[in-house]
Formats: sequence, C-alpha cells, structure tokens
Amino acid sequence: MVGINNMKLINGKEISAAVKERAAAEVAKLKEQGIEVCLAVILVGDDPASQVYVGNKKKACEACGMRSLEYRLPADTKQEDLLKLIANLNADKTVNGILCQLPLPKHIDEDTITSAILPEKDVDGFHPVNAGLLLSGKEGFLPCTPAGIMEMLKYENIDCKGKNCVVIGRSNIVGKPAALLMLAADATVTVCHSRTVNLKEAVKAADIIIAAVGRPNFVTADMVKDGAVVIDVGINRLENGKLCGDVDFEAVSTKASAITPVPGGVGPMTIAMLMQNTVIAAKKQNGI
Ligand code: NAD
Repeated sequence: MVGINNMKLINGKEISAAVKERAAAEVAKLKEQGIEVCLAVILVGDDPASQVYVGNKKKACEACGMRSLEYRLPADTKQEDLLKLIANLNADKTVNGILCQLPLPKHIDEDTITSAILPEKDVDGFHPVNAGLLLSGKEGFLPCTPAGIMEMLKYENIDCKGKNCVVIGRSNIVGKPAALLMLAADATVTVCHSRTVNLKEAVKAADIIIAAVGRPNFVTADMVKDGAVVIDVGINRLENGKLCGDVDFEAVSTKASAITPVPGGVGPMTIAMLMQNTVIAAKKQNGI
C-alpha cells in the first residue's frame, strides 16, 4: 500500500490475512490426507491481556480450520502439574503444536516450562533447541513476532541485503531473534538496548529500524534517516486507553519510505505466523 509522499504504509492486517489464508489452504489439504492440524494452548492465571491473546489464538485456529485445545488453569497451579500436562500433550500424537502463554505466575519457572515442550511441537519458537538452531542459521521454529517482521519485509519486496539494520531492544522473544533473522537476510545489524551509548547516532545510520522497546514515542523523527524503513513492534497502552507503538508515527512517517502502524502493523502478524508454524509442525510430524 502506498500512502502520502510515496511513503508505504505496511499493512499488517492485509499481510497477516494472506499468511492465514495460506495456512488455511494447507490445513484443508492435510485434512484430505486424514491429518487434522491441532494446536494446544495453555493459560495459567487470569492476566487480562493473556486472556485476550489466548482467545485470539483460538479464533485464528477456527478461521484456519485447525482444531484448538485450550487449557485454562488457575493461578495457583503447581509447576509439577503444569509439567504433567505438557508431558501428556508432548506424548499425544494428535497434538501438533503446544504453546504456554507467558508471563507465568511467579512461582513457576518460565525457562523450565519452555524447555519442557518438545522442540518439534514448540510453535512459539522459545525452546533453547529452536533458539540454538536460529543462532546457527539452521531450520527450526522461529519466534512468531520476528518471523512476522521478516514476512512483512518479504511481502513488501524490501531487500535487506547489505542494508544497515538497527534493532532497538534485546529481549529473547523479539529483539535478539529479530537481529539474528536480519543477519541471516544479509543485513549489517546493530543491536541497541537500555545501556547503549549514543543510541540516536546509531539509529540515524539505519536503513531499516526495528523498534522493540516498549516505550511510547521512543523513536522520534530526528533519529530517523530520510527513506528509512521503520518497523514498530511496540504495543503500549496510553493513559487515554489508546494503543500506540514505540515510534512517533506521525512525525516519523514523513521521513520513512515505509512504516508499520500500531495497531494494524506487526501485531496481527504474530498470530498468523503461529498458524504457519503449527502447519509446519503438522507436516514435519507426518513426514510431509
Ligand atoms: P522487553 O521489556 O523484554 O525488552 C525491551 C527491550 O528494550 C530491552 O531489551 C531493553 O534493553 C530495551 N530498552 C528498554 N529501555 C530502553 C531505552 N531507554 N533505550 C534503549 N533500549 C531500551 O520487551 P519485549 O518483550 O521485547 O517487547 C518490546 C515491545 O514489543 C513491547 O511494547 C511489547 O508489548 C511489544 N511486543 C509486541 C508483540 C507483537 O505481537 N507485536 C510481541 C511481543 C512484544
């Protein structure tokens, strides 16, 4: 989509719909072969945002024709009981993908839970085996949000080769894997974080900016080179209840050659890539 001043507004709703359509077609094809694609989602506790995410994941499964299993467990669930449920789902041949919604209550160790899911059913891409495969440039499950970013760039024919990419944020679920994927796409990558000195200068040199900070209006127009591609991963809720990203969208969009809005940018891509990962899991598990 081309917006004002030839600036391209990267439409996550449109791109995620295309990914989900592709997944739905694969699900239908697998059904013809007697394979029913199935995703199991576990939610522990009653975090309101997590409840919305889990509900949306169920809706996406239905829209793609997948079977979805939902386990809503109380906040005081013991870690060993959660591990037992995961072990059962690991052993269940009819379950292709398993996802445990984060964050978990404090008495449960997230690393232990993430590592308990079989790597071949880890459609969130958080298992250390999948993280290691990504690090070594080998095929595994990619975390959905960074995979969604790469899908958007591909859809818009934005070539990363030789470009300067600055990723702001170094979390395990967004910043770090996004940096590795950009590296795999032949970009020259700089990772900025809370301890970076001269962050503004680094960002100003970027052809592609990926902002995953979690602070409204963190990336301002004076930090952005003319013609840069700006990917805004942030989801921040303002006092007035509105959602906004990490980028000062109005000002930055006058300089960017392409930019993702919030909402309607990277956000919808995450669930679409989860659907894609679940289809990949089902195919691999059935030797297809
Ligand atoms: P996080 O809190 O784990 O990581 C934030 C990162 O930002 C850290 O690595 C930190 O070093 C960096 N940072 C914090 N303050 C900084 C500063 N002043 N200067 C430079 N760097 C700074 O968060 P996360 O899980 O990576 O998520 C980041 C944002 O993306 C959040 O707004 C989150 O809601 C959003 N998010 C969106 C999706 C999606 O589907 N679109 C998925 C995951 C996260």
